[in-house]
Amino acid sequence: MQAIAALSLPIYLCLALVLTGCSDQSLYQRLERDGELILLTRNSPTTYYFDGDEATGFDYDLIKGYADSRNYTLRVKAAFTLEELITRLAKGEAHLAAAGLTVTPERSARFLASDPYLTQKPLVVYKSGQRRPRDVSELANRDLVVLAGSSHTETLLNLQKQHPQLAWREIRAADTLELMQLVTTGKAELAIIDSVEFRMQQQLYPRLVAALELDKQEVMAWYLHPAEGADAMQADLNAYLSEIEASGDLQKLKDRHFGTLDFASRLSTFTFRRKLQTDLPRWQSLIEEVADEYQLDWRLLAAIAYQESHWDPEARSPTGVRGFMMITQVTAEELGVDDVLDPHQSLRGGARFLKDLQRRLPPDIEDPHRLWMALAAYNIGMGHLEDARILAERKGMDPHLWPDVRAQLPFLQNPDVYPTTRFGFARGQEAVTYVDNIRQYHSILQLQSVPDSRLQPPVDTNALSRDQTRLQLPKAL
Ligand code: GLU
Repeated sequence: MQAIAALSLPIYLCLALVLTGCSDQSLYQRLERDGELILLTRNSPTTYYFDGDEATGFDYDLIKGYADSRNYTLRVKAAFTLEELITRLAKGEAHLAAAGLTVTPERSARFLASDPYLTQKPLVVYKSGQRRPRDVSELANRDLVVLAGSSHTETLLNLQKQHPQLAWREIRAADTLELMQLVTTGKAELAIIDSVEFRMQQQLYPRLVAALELDKQEVMAWYLHPAEGADAMQADLNAYLSEIEASGDLQKLKDRHFGTLDFASRLSTFTFRRKLQTDLPRWQSLIEEVADEYQLDWRLLAAIAYQESHWDPEARSPTGVRGFMMITQVTAEELGVDDVLDPHQSLRGGARFLKDLQRRLPPDIEDPHRLWMALAAYNIGMGHLEDARILAERKGMDPHLWPDVRAQLPFLQNPDVYPTTRFGFARGQEAVTYVDNIRQYHSILQLQSVPDSRLQPPVDTNALSRDQTRLQLPKAL
């Protein structure tokens, strides 16, 4: 007690701040001084996760773009649940939260919101074949689940005023995959999920269907810790959002993260056939030269480069991955690539990286399985690929066969499964699509017999007959 009595006034104040969780007045001053922007987010497929050794996710990429444009370094803190995220933001543990947060009156009363960057609708989902609720009154007396601390609990509390029978369970988790899992396995009847999250994960849970929209449109925004300096930052964030809205970068980021795969793959083959004629002739001899050097099939290297950058040497992803083969900065350094924008260097780096991955796989995996697995690792990282192989083994499948490993990759997104793996959550479905696309592009190149440019005069691609473009693709493995 005496010791406490001896503390000076400023120390008392600090202690009081820590105990009450009051706002830290110097939070934004520290940002000015150190240039470190602290972000609170949650680990989920739409917000923040690791793709190989690279952090990504729509919210993360968006805020990283802001941090880069202002020369801030970004420090990420991840919360395990939405409730935890809100509590930690209130305590001033971060400047802002970017975590697919819907703007709600309750949140906006506590924090400062940026302008909205995404619009979506909350959906009630159910399992097809079960009783479909047609309106809100039909949600009563059903086993309904939502994320604890989510915007949907606020919506439900409001609806409960008109529908007193309405009841629900709140699930403590960071993402809605958990809810989809409960409904698909019959452990809950209905779930309320943001439409963007639902659409993105629907492929994983094909039996889940949207029954009704719970609300008109809702918007998502960043929430800032309300301390001195927050309003200046709010204005700066809004300026950034207007900039990327006007430049089209915001839309590109949405397409990249939320564009539906089916739609994309239907379109992509069509575009590929067109680009074979318009763009490939420019790159073919360079691709052949590098493929020769690394003893790869040039058509395969061309297919990978197309999947990576659409043969655009200036291509750039929102995560800062750039160039013909979209090599990350870390990988570029390891591979000795000084200029990722130089197509020759980029191709050589990519070819060498693929060769390295092929070499690192266990020796008893035979081609072509070895090649498809190396390609999956190129996309998702060797650690996650190994996890999928272990899952295959656990299920009595053969981890040496690509079809068996391919079937396991999407489980790396399944909340019942990925916590049991060594490297955790990964966008396994995306890796599957990645390899499928490359195989498809590769097949088209083989079937159209685009000749080696050094053996024959450049192909007159306009002469490719219609029948050739309609050739059936070989059956996938
Ligand atoms: N957007 C929701 C929220 O802000 C979280 C995601 C969900 O529950 O679907 O609470």
